[in-house]
Amino acid sequence: MKTVYFFGAGKADGSAQMKALLGGKGGNLAEMTRIGLPVPPGFTITTEVCTHYVTHRKSYPRELFPQAEAALKRLENLTGKKFGHAKNPLLVSVRSGARESMPGMMDTILNLGLNDLTVEPLATRSANPRFAWDSYRRFIQMYGDVVLQVRSRGKDAHDPFEEILSNLKEEVGAERDTSLTAGNLRELVSRYKKLIQRRTGSEFPQDPKKQLWGAIGAVFESWNNDRAIVYRRKYHIPHTWGTAVNVQAMVFGNLGNTSATGVAFTRDPATGKKEIYGEYLINAQGEDVVAGVRTPYPISRMRQEMPKAYAELERIRNLLERHFRDMQDFEFTIEDNKVYMLQTRSGKRTGLAAVRIAVEMEKERLIDWKKALLRVPPDSLSHVLAPVFDRKDRQQAQGEGRLLAKGLAAGPGAASGKAVFNAEDAVEWANRGEKVLLARIETTPEDLRGMIAAEGILTARGGVSSHAALVARQMGKVCVCGAQDIHVDYSHRRMVVKNRTIREGDSISIDGTSGEVFEGEVRTAPSEIVQVLITSSLEGRKSLIYRQFATLMKWADKVRTLKIRTNADQPDQAANAIAFGAEGIGLCRTEHMFFGGNRIDAVREMIIAETPEARQRALLKLLPYQREDFIGIFRQMRGLPVTIRTLDPPLHEFLPNDGEILRELADKLQIPYEKIASRVAQLHEANPMLGHRGCRLGISYPEITQIQARAIFEAAAFVKKEGVPVRPEIMIPLVGFPRELSLQLAIVHQAAKEVEEASRVTIPYSVGTMIEVPRAALVAGEIASEAEFFSFGTNDLTQMVLGMSRDDSGSFLPDYLEHEIVKANPFSSIDQSGLGKLMALAIEQGRKVRPTLKVGICGEHGGDPASVEFCHALGLDYVSCSPYRVPIARLAAAHAVLKASTVAGVRAKGKRER
Ligand code: PEP
Ligand code: MG
Repeated sequence: MKTVYFFGAGKADGSAQMKALLGGKGGNLAEMTRIGLPVPPGFTITTEVCTHYVTHRKSYPRELFPQAEAALKRLENLTGKKFGHAKNPLLVSVRSGARESMPGMMDTILNLGLNDLTVEPLATRSANPRFAWDSYRRFIQMYGDVVLQVRSRGKDAHDPFEEILSNLKEEVGAERDTSLTAGNLRELVSRYKKLIQRRTGSEFPQDPKKQLWGAIGAVFESWNNDRAIVYRRKYHIPHTWGTAVNVQAMVFGNLGNTSATGVAFTRDPATGKKEIYGEYLINAQGEDVVAGVRTPYPISRMRQEMPKAYAELERIRNLLERHFRDMQDFEFTIEDNKVYMLQTRSGKRTGLAAVRIAVEMEKERLIDWKKALLRVPPDSLSHVLAPVFDRKDRQQAQGEGRLLAKGLAAGPGAASGKAVFNAEDAVEWANRGEKVLLARIETTPEDLRGMIAAEGILTARGGVSSHAALVARQMGKVCVCGAQDIHVDYSHRRMVVKNRTIREGDSISIDGTSGEVFEGEVRTAPSEIVQVLITSSLEGRKSLIYRQFATLMKWADKVRTLKIRTNADQPDQAANAIAFGAEGIGLCRTEHMFFGGNRIDAVREMIIAETPEARQRALLKLLPYQREDFIGIFRQMRGLPVTIRTLDPPLHEFLPNDGEILRELADKLQIPYEKIASRVAQLHEANPMLGHRGCRLGISYPEITQIQARAIFEAAAFVKKEGVPVRPEIMIPLVGFPRELSLQLAIVHQAAKEVEEASRVTIPYSVGTMIEVPRAALVAGEIASEAEFFSFGTNDLTQMVLGMSRDDSGSFLPDYLEHEIVKANPFSSIDQSGLGKLMALAIEQGRKVRPTLKVGICGEHGGDPASVEFCHALGLDYVSCSPYRVPIARLAAAHAVLKASTVAGVRAKGKRER
């Protein structure tokens, strides 16, 4: 087995195609070496070794040692340096690198090979003792933390190395790390070594080989650290993949003022603008930039400060984009004015940037339109539609002097919430239903859980490529970082800025597009796309992001075969959805219409009624209201299909449980209070979700279905007479037995007949049912003999198939996710291997009996990209989701086609022909 892959001097054993084996970093180091980019030589130990290490009680395959030994020799020959040599020592970095990048989740060690002996020649050879001692102290610090686990104790505590560093700086009156002299750093090394001796009971290891194997083991070990596991779970990265380890000759960004280190993107990862974007630190090492410990300079400044290196970076940028054909996020080091590449990968980007980069790269002919579509993750569109601060409210806040600080705009969007100062509290508060903003001096990967829980992230230190910024962008979180005026005090859980103190729980607001931080709450306003499409307060041609969004949607519509509908109960919701591209209403929940104005009184009268006649009287009061609602919706939808569902929830949901209101109701209806109270008691159910609801109401009280159907048809006839086409689809909920459906449909057909005769208008309607009770799916063939369409109610279907209450599962689902019993919340994303089977069966049985059967989905899953792709694969005709998710579903439906195999392609074609 080949366990080690070498790269250097223009040649490499591996390539970018081998990421599964070499990890993303290893694969791309090999690739960059091959295309002639300046990469320091080194070797990659494969992910297979990691898997072996994890599954064989932390032992290595036998062939690793001789292969690593040979690679080390080759590295020594190529660099002319020797590992552990007293005069010309080779120093290496040891870095993790999984198949998919997991920024900051695993460990890295730099300057390995330094010890009390090799630090001296490094000082003389570089003629820079300060540099040598700085490198040594960094190495001890990293090694101490990562390998020897000398770390902070407790959530409010500081890092012990940082504490020693701060104390020393104070003692010698040094403001910055760079003001420390070689002598100071030598003292620091000695204090660090004492710390390690004290904490571990042993000396800091001096043998470089021992250091190397310690570091390699620690990197493999870090694959299973808590934050890496959390990260993998969130991004669905299999735990079995393992990480590779890259051992690479060191180049030094901290050799003096002609040296630097930095990270850059080939385009702006926040906005997508085509310009080299990033930051660098002069006289520093890579981890300083990513860790956000010092605030670096923007890369544009390098043009003046280091013009030669800047020109080289521009050259590299073009080469990278032309070769990889995607926006790259790369790390570089400048050693004495010479640029070296340490890493490249496809850059994480905001939703905003994803859209812009995809559309512009297509224009530049770097990619075709189909690839451009696939470059935008559907969910990232929710970020493009995210709110910004309301302009007036923001101005007012500024006028009132509530603008506290300005940091770097690191994750666009605007957010308001209560300040918390550590990740644990963020999680705890969020679980209590509070909106929180997590404020930290800087974030580390340990903060990941807190960042997930928070609405937004604010840091006092760190640049746009700091850990906080990377992670926030990826999660689509609002983020401001490097707001240097803010002094965060962990131990008192507060921050002080401009003489003002913000304590835990105080409201703050941040704008991740401008970098502003405000005291108190600032209202948010819709995104430009929403302003163009929904509020019509902005002209489309004036908004670049709108125009690019529209291009993307046009491409999506060209390729997708799945129709996208919306769940809407009001004309304005329907209008919004149409503006977002909806092609019909997939679910109009009529019960939502029962709460407007004073209709609830009539609804309650209907429920309290004891005889069919009394019920009929109350229902007739409701009829005009319902008719008006439907008229509004039909007018808005102009002939697009509108699926209207008959009453679904258990009746007691409409009754007050407050005694006082009940008394008022009794007075209004002139019914004795006791009678009403006893009716309420009678309607009480222990398990209402499985109780008297859905079509069961229509079975017990047929007049409800009758009046609702009449309202729908009268509205349809009215609108059709106005010259507007109509296409009502009446849908019966919670059907499990075919006869339930036939009884209800008889009422609907009768109502249609009566209205058509009275109005002399023919109404092109269809009737169908929801498939949301497992029995309905099992007898779908019989049901399809009467139903013209099926709509999967995956909220109830999930509840009943999994036996998990849709209302109460929040108490244990987090545990299920934690233990990976479920990969995603089954109420958000379809349980494909379980519930999915039942859906497939229902479709197959239904279409066997009625080949023209139209099938859709209207549960919450209709707006979840993975579920949309699954629905496409199952051969559904449409998905229906909330208006703001319609663009996401359009894009997901396009992805489904582009990703599908030829087999699925054939099925999609067949579907179109049906
Ligand atoms: C469903 O059950 O999926 C559904 C759409 O109906 P409701 O959520 O109204 O029960
Ligand atoms: Mg339902």
